[in-house]
Amino acid sequence: MHGERILMGPGPSNPYPEVVAALTRPVLGHLDPEFLAVLEHTSSQLRTAFRTDNQLTFPLSGTGSAGMEAAMTNLVGPGDVVVVGVNGLFGERLCEMAGRLGAEVVRVEAPWGEPLDPQAVVSAHPSPTVIALVHAETSTGVRNDVAEVGAAKGDALFVVDTVTSLGGIEVAVDDWHVDLSYSGTQKCLGVPPGLSPITVSPLARERLVRRPTSWYLDLGLISAYVSGGSGRTYHHTAPISMIYALEAGLGVLLEEGLEASWARHRACGELLQDGLEALGLRLVPPAGHRLPQLTTVWVPELPRGMTEADVRAQLLSDYGIEIGAGVGPMAGRVWRIGCMGHTARRRNVELLLSALASILGHRRLGGSS
Ligand SMILES: *Cc1c(COP(=O)(O)O)cnc(C)c1O
Repeated sequence: MHGERILMGPGPSNPYPEVVAALTRPVLGHLDPEFLAVLEHTSSQLRTAFRTDNQLTFPLSGTGSAGMEAAMTNLVGPGDVVVVGVNGLFGERLCEMAGRLGAEVVRVEAPWGEPLDPQAVVSAHPSPTVIALVHAETSTGVRNDVAEVGAAKGDALFVVDTVTSLGGIEVAVDDWHVDLSYSGTQKCLGVPPGLSPITVSPLARERLVRRPTSWYLDLGLISAYVSGGSGRTYHHTAPISMIYALEAGLGVLLEEGLEASWARHRACGELLQDGLEALGLRLVPPAGHRLPQLTTVWVPELPRGMTEADVRAQLLSDYGIEIGAGVGPMAGRVWRIGCMGHTARRRNVELLLSALASILGHRRLGGSS
């Protein structure tokens, strides 16, 4: 039997039942008018979710990293100045991608576990080609301020990673002056991994790199397919079933309402974070910049002979709950607990808290060991 899990790691989250049902729908051809209507509907749902009027908004084939790579490869060329906010793994990955494209990378750092200073980001260089940052740093559980950077971005193109934020906390692409944002399906959208929703502003479209080094991720070529009309031609075969799944997931999100979804994530995050503190654990990010959908907590002193990996293994084997380990400088020192999409339910949080209390040797929630 396949293990049924409560997925409370940094992703994937549990898919919505409607999404699972959508995955079984009959496969259509990628130029079938019925499928094209689904693609157009999905793109219009994405505009609502991203809060944008950007015409070029669609589900890119590939996971969140494909969206990141598409952003960099279509906007950055040799010698371009790219300012990157770095306070975790995904900021580092943006630097790595920009560096491989021959950009002059200007790093604006904050320690892992702390938010970036928006003023430091906008004043790092007088005329960058691109300013890029991660909204929700999944490696640390920190929320970076996006609106402040967007308001002062000047002539630069502003790229924002919303892989872990879209659907879970407020994202407002147009109000925040974001020129390109990419997300992922398996975090707060409650859809399996496989697509990267992406949105591109008219200004970014004017400045797309001609013949970028990646053919597959060339937004100029892909837009001929996704933008529709009679000129729609083959570029690559759209992942039909995943697009059904995303359409269903966005349907759940928009029916619940964006604000209601953010409120559900916030309520779960607070319940979890308060519960962890009641167990005597300490949260990593400072109050005010904690993500409700991804909680990072220092590993406490453990019962004799037990490692942090043993705790995670026991959660998985005895309770079917997955939580995540630390990465980078936080490897072995923190746990990362996701509460995203369909997983963001009170019952999941309460089950995890009581399981953790029991494994850590607390007699009951809030009790002492
Ligand atoms: C998960 C994640 C990614 C990468 O997405 P994949 O789907 O794993 O390729 C990028 N950025 C952030 C902030 C993420 O959380």
